[in-house]
Amino acid sequence: MEGSGSSVPQGQSGLRFQNWAGTFGCRPERFYRPRELREIRQILVLAREQGKRVKVVGGGHSPSDIACTDGFMIHLGHLNRVLQVDKEKLQVKVEAGILLSELNLELDKHRMALENLGAVAEVTAAGVIGTGTHNTGIQLGILATQVVALTLLLASGEVLECSESLNPEVFGAARLHLGALGIVLDVTFQCVPEFRLREIAFPSTLTQVLDELEEHLRNSRYFRFLWFPHTDNVRVIYQDPTQQAPRSSSSWFWDYAVGFHLLQLLLWLRSRTRAALLELRAALEADPAIRAHFPVEIRFCRRDRIPLSPCFQRDSCYINVIMYRPYGRAVPLARYWLLYERIMRKHGGRPHWAKAHSCTRKDLEEMFPEFHKFCALREKLDPNGIFLNSYLEKIFF
Ligand SMILES: Cc1cc2nc3c(=O)[nH]c(=O)nc-3n(C[C@H](O)[C@H](O)[C@H](O)COP(=O)(O)OP(=O)(O)OC[C@H]3O[C@@H](n4cnc5c(N)ncnc54)[C@H](O)[C@@H]3O)c2cc1C
Repeated sequence: MEGSGSSVPQGQSGLRFQNWAGTFGCRPERFYRPRELREIRQILVLAREQGKRVKVVGGGHSPSDIACTDGFMIHLGHLNRVLQVDKEKLQVKVEAGILLSELNLELDKHRMALENLGAVAEVTAAGVIGTGTHNTGIQLGILATQVVALTLLLASGEVLECSESLNPEVFGAARLHLGALGIVLDVTFQCVPEFRLREIAFPSTLTQVLDELEEHLRNSRYFRFLWFPHTDNVRVIYQDPTQQAPRSSSSWFWDYAVGFHLLQLLLWLRSRTRAALLELRAALEADPAIRAHFPVEIRFCRRDRIPLSPCFQRDSCYINVIMYRPYGRAVPLARYWLLYERIMRKHGGRPHWAKAHSCTRKDLEEMFPEFHKFCALREKLDPNGIFLNSYLEKIFF
């Protein structure tokens, strides 16, 4: 048993954490940046002795308060090494605090790549899998499906290696962990050989793109579209592997959208995409008080078997509702959010864990067939709730 003696990291007090969007923040009692496992263990021991809660923050990009705590906050920015590259299996093992932007550069050296990424790369390996980050491509799963192994530091101090063959039940759940099962120490990703993408974008209309949805899904590996609310205008975007030399490395979407602040997202079964989007359009037309001033992004993902995955057992469509906050100023969103969430729920939507939603445990038990199993596992691995915070309390109790 380790004591909390004099070598315990001191941590900082008085720091304020704020998420990327500036929508949630907190003042952790102590903020730690450990350099090794021994220090993380000591922080856990100290937390247990003092009855404090512990939360690891990754890149702080979740628009909800999922990473917030008033207890001990741990930042793993020093634990960002690539631990192992297996060029035969095309797998890479990394420390949990590595940013995907750092990982991508390393993979480039080995002519490897992650098969799918979210819209931004200043997010950590453990953070992106923890909330179910996804991109698009009906043949491609969420990022957590690319994980082949991970290591957890449990509330008890035990280090648990997890994969399909080692502690498979924990592995299954921990790929989308919500920061609730333990501290993720490392993650092993299945990669693919490096590839380049060619983007083709063209205009369409909402009804047309919905009529031709199956064709678009077949036509392009990374198909998505943007719908401009209050109009019928759509921009269809195809991205596909190419042998052509690169011509531009810039993504206009996030380059120009640094002021994006609030987003909320629910998703649902692909077959319901049409009905839900047309209902959203009709509802916006019927309510002139709502001004949705930013494109709605529609993406697709393959089904999986991860208990808390929004794509659990069903191919899914993600509908991403965004509001821009110019210079950080508040814009009216509540009415839009409520309308959107009501419609998505009606059509069988499930929440994106990183985003704002109002789902309770009862709702979630109906939406996720294995929600109760995740809860039972969480209670077993963290019986005293050391990894809880107010976001998790809202969904687990
Ligand atoms: C501009 C922008 C674009 C985005 N684009 C997309 C997108 O395309 N697709 C999409 O799905 N999402 C998207 N997101 C959401 C984003 O991918 C998720 O919020 C993701 O979880 C952020 O990773 P992070 O490292 O910032 O994690 P954080 O937000 O810091 O943390 C997320 C969760 O992981 C936990 N955690 C982090 N590290 C550990 C660890 N080592 N051990 C245990 N728990 C840990 C935290 O406690 C928290 O519960 C976007 C967000 C922004 C702001």
